[in-house]
Amino acid sequence: MKKITILGSTGSIGISTLSIIQKNRNLFKVVALVANTNISTMLQQCELFSPDWAAMRDEKSAHILSKKLKHRKIKTQVLFGEKDICILASLQETDQVISAIVGVAGLLPTLSAIYAGKTILLANKESLITCGHLFMKAIASSGAKIIPIDSEHNAIFQVLPLDIQKNLGVASLKKNNIKNLILTASGGPFYKFSSSDLSGVTPDQACSHPNWFMGKKISVDSATMMNKGLEYAEARWLFNASGSEIKILIHPESIVHSMVQYCDGSLLAQLSVPDIRISISYAMSWPDRIHTEVNFLSLSQINNLSFFEPDFVQFPCLKLAIDSFSQGQSAMIVLNAVNEVAVSAFLNSRISFTEIYEINIEILMSSCFSEPDCIQDILEIDRKARILAQKKVLSLVV
Ligand code: NDP
Repeated sequence: MKKITILGSTGSIGISTLSIIQKNRNLFKVVALVANTNISTMLQQCELFSPDWAAMRDEKSAHILSKKLKHRKIKTQVLFGEKDICILASLQETDQVISAIVGVAGLLPTLSAIYAGKTILLANKESLITCGHLFMKAIASSGAKIIPIDSEHNAIFQVLPLDIQKNLGVASLKKNNIKNLILTASGGPFYKFSSSDLSGVTPDQACSHPNWFMGKKISVDSATMMNKGLEYAEARWLFNASGSEIKILIHPESIVHSMVQYCDGSLLAQLSVPDIRISISYAMSWPDRIHTEVNFLSLSQINNLSFFEPDFVQFPCLKLAIDSFSQGQSAMIVLNAVNEVAVSAFLNSRISFTEIYEINIEILMSSCFSEPDCIQDILEIDRKARILAQKKVLSLVV
């Protein structure tokens, strides 16, 4: 039986993970759950899965949760704060850690799991893209293992040779006869909008993804296509890929979740209905597979599978993320931090949709940070970039 800790259990990925565990109680046991402030969902999860530990980032929420658990005679021990979350991410008894906290808040807990040599099932792309080199180096030296949950990277992982699966981030694509990796993108809810239509779109529209049900931040990132740019960076690190080895194609049907092109011209793809439980369950059971409750794909009922080159004019955030990656690690940290601030401001109706890109480009162009050598440097660049972004948001609101 695999013992699991879920960082971000009350979010979209966390809830999907627990639904898989519920159907496979003989295979998985929940050791610890982690969230921020969502007491009611955490309480239900503790009731249903009886974890040994639960942690809330927010201290007040942890105290309320603890009282409610005692009242219901549930024995789960409650902790709080980032330090305690890092401790839960590295518990000796845990085999797998699901990294599904949203944003850079997931960085230290994910690193803590890596240093402890755990198998990390990675959804939180922000932690990888902000410190790619250090992250992959820590994996190599600690003996930790990483398996991607993000559907595109999981699809690629599924069709890679076992040798690369076992040596992710280190094995050479070229030596394994791989020409390139093709990341597919749905194009999000605004794929058919013209650039001029985009300025007036609302947070609700941006969060209504046509194919996937996800948390708000990643939904907005999908709408700007920043998400695909972040996934490009994620793929560069995860698969040890050069820029020319990664292609991006818009595929509005979200059936082909990504592809690997081999040197003989073969194109291997993973196809399924768009349901993240497939990616999560494969990561949890790798190298085996388990049954899921997901609908099976019926190819005869699909009229069309279409693929297009992305339009960088309509989706400038995609190009910005690709360019930032080539500029270096500090540019990626700035981009990630500024984007988190800008998306949050958009979700709170403080700025318009198109201002997300404007804030990102302006701060990237006007700021200059040296390359980070350690985690403290990364956190410092992140902190300073957030201050600049918040100032910019204020100037737009006034
Ligand atoms: P959600 O917003 O749905 O959930 C976020 C989770 O993180 C919640 O459990 C939240 O707790 C917790 N959280 C937020 N801040 C903190 C903090 N400071 N400390 C501890 N916990 C915190 O996000 P998603 O599940 O959609 O996404 C999670 C990650 O997975 C993101 O990085 C996203 O990019 C990635 N991802 C998501 C996919 C999806 O299908 N949803 C697909 C691929 C990747 P609380 O509820 O208390 O706020």
